[in-house]
Amino acid sequence: MLLMKNLTSVCPHCQSKNAFTWYGSLNLDRDTKIKTDLIESGGLSLIKCSDCQIQYQEEPDLAIIYLSKRLWLIGHPIHQISNWERLEKESLQNFSGTFGPNANSGFEALGLKVNPRVVFGWPALIEKVLIYENNLNEKLIELAKYLIQKNLGPSGYELELRFYQTDNNQFVFRSYNQKTRKLLADKFSISSEIVESFKNENSDWGDFEKHFENTAWFDSLRLHHYQSKKNTTAA
Ligand SMILES: [Zn+2]
Repeated sequence: MLLMKNLTSVCPHCQSKNAFTWYGSLNLDRDTKIKTDLIESGGLSLIKCSDCQIQYQEEPDLAIIYLSKRLWLIGHPIHQISNWERLEKESLQNFSGTFGPNANSGFEALGLKVNPRVVFGWPALIEKVLIYENNLNEKLIELAKYLIQKNLGPSGYELELRFYQTDNNQFVFRSYNQKTRKLLADKFSISSEIVESFKNENSDWGDFEKHFENTAWFDSLRLHHYQSKKNTTAA
């Protein structure tokens, strides 16, 4: 189900036109070379402008299926993040049309529990693929990010943390400036024991977990978006 097209992109720096390959859908069990590119190059649709020579990237707008890892993933452009509630709802509806109990796709009968996921921007998309690729506990990763950001205080919420690797029982995250979208030099890590102990001993864990029940935008950022929405409504 590889869907790709050659499209034209306008350079954000000099407005010259460049040809690039756009991907509409990928099957990561089959398109393994693209999967490697995606993870190692920081996403797809990277363009080096033929005129000013500056490299830039078109935002994702694609569907990914990775059945061996039980992942069904929709990647939206980052600027759509403010529409997450609507896009999540649409994704869950599309998903149940294909994999739900009434879909007759055979997946339910096989007992395959596929997880529907929605992400915004390449860093989030790569993170989700890495988590499923490495069979990591998605909820623990999100909790780890939540704890790091809480520790950092207000400045932490200007960051977007994305899973990078595990290293000696540490979850290591890359950081991006949420506004400029720039990858920052700082990496943040937290030990898996600290995350586990929060889960086991802290009564807030139940509240944290509730935010992710039956959701597709499985991202600690949603807690922040809930909070800002609540504040706006209150004001
Ligand atoms: Zn250019």
